[in-house]
Amino acid sequence: MSNLEDLYREIILDHYRNPRNRGELVTPPAHKTEGFNPLCGDEITVFIQVEGDTLVDIKIAGHGCSISQSSASLMSAAVKGKSLEEVRATINTFKQLMTVHEATLDNEAEPEPVNLRALGELAALQGVVKFPVRIKCATLSWNTLTQGLDEL
Ligand code: ZN
Repeated sequence: MSNLEDLYREIILDHYRNPRNRGELVTPPAHKTEGFNPLCGDEITVFIQVEGDTLVDIKIAGHGCSISQSSASLMSAAVKGKSLEEVRATINTFKQLMTVHEATLDNEAEPEPVNLRALGELAALQGVVKFPVRIKCATLSWNTLTQGLDEL
């Protein structure tokens, strides 16, 4: 096992054991969106508070496997305080990371390289894609956040 894989595992475990931005926000003014992954039983509730074009606060509630909870925590830390444009860009980069590996697994055309540096700690989740069934665990919170933004 490489040191990088060790580091990634440590980041995922850290976010699972000490989830960031855990809790709820008062609605309104916050917006609440619930997501469910029936394949694994993961449930995520994403609370977002937007002021102007800034995501000023985000809280995550729910329960599920370590990948779903860790991914939600990593996501909350990555998007909190960012402009909505930056939030959307982060979502797209993360989804690209998941999609690229799906394409690789299918032996399709050479995927576009993902800018891992731009992902920061989120890059830790790239190991998930070796286990395709877990991708839905990792993307659940992101899809829920996207739905919440679309509903604003
Ligand atoms: Zn799961």
